[in-house]
Amino acid sequence: MKVFTTKEALKTHLNSPSLCAKQIGFVPTMGALHEGHLSLLRECKKNNSISVVSIFVNPIQFDKKDDLEKYPRTLSNDLRLLENEGCDVVFTPSVDEMYSKNSSTLQFDFDGLEDIMEGAFRSGHFNGVGTVVKLLFEMINPTRAYFGEKDFQQLLIIRKMVEKHQLPVQIIGCSIFREDNGLAMSSRNERLSKSAKQEAALIYRILTVVREMTTNHSLEDIHQWVCLQFKDHPLFFLEYFIIANERTLQTATIIDPKIYYRAFIAVKVGSVRLIDNIAL
Ligand code: AMP
Repeated sequence: MKVFTTKEALKTHLNSPSLCAKQIGFVPTMGALHEGHLSLLRECKKNNSISVVSIFVNPIQFDKKDDLEKYPRTLSNDLRLLENEGCDVVFTPSVDEMYSKNSSTLQFDFDGLEDIMEGAFRSGHFNGVGTVVKLLFEMINPTRAYFGEKDFQQLLIIRKMVEKHQLPVQIIGCSIFREDNGLAMSSRNERLSKSAKQEAALIYRILTVVREMTTNHSLEDIHQWVCLQFKDHPLFFLEYFIIANERTLQTATIIDPKIYYRAFIAVKVGSVRLIDNIAL
């Protein structure tokens, strides 16, 4: 496994004559790797001749300094996990290496996908995500890039960016990898105590009940029921719960059997913010 910290060295390696005709699969991450990330890498390795993983905690997608500072960083363990999985190339640049001094955050129009849910609660988040992913695509030139449905809105936004900017890469969405208790794996789970991690399984349990409820309850009833589960909860604070069209992310007003919907949720467990979603 080759590890690069500079753009130049990465590009030189990927453009070398022995690699340049190969299909490159790319998995962008912010590190603190877990089985969810590794499931993307396994998918990537199945269909490409070279796998590239980036590890970069992207400051411009954080709107809260504290959240950025507390984001877990476990580089040596990450490299060990990637080596064990047979990853070919890791790119782990510093912030100064990634962004030159006079570079600025790109402003994207994602046709409104960016205005709701994560976009509404995290100011500038998706411009930050779009900027770093576009830069990484330009450096790596992947044939395919892998994103988790855990961040479903991000997946749609990346697809939209690729379509609008006609980027020559195929975007592959991968299903959510969960703990045995149903909690969606996340680097942020590292910040939960053992007992909070157990209790946070409630989030997925609620989503599975919601999925059942859609067959015989109104959307209003479902919404009220979800709010009730978190009302006065000593540990959890519900930030949003939305049932939306899976393609447009428009909030559903009725359930139309011809349309695919998902339920999306963001919950704060103490100071740790968790998101999850489920296909209905
Ligand atoms: P992150 O390091 O959190 O930026 O995540 C990097 C990629 O891994 C993103 O495409 C995420 O959606 C994906 N990912 C994170 N957690 C999971 C999970 N539990 N299951 C599947 N994909 C995940």
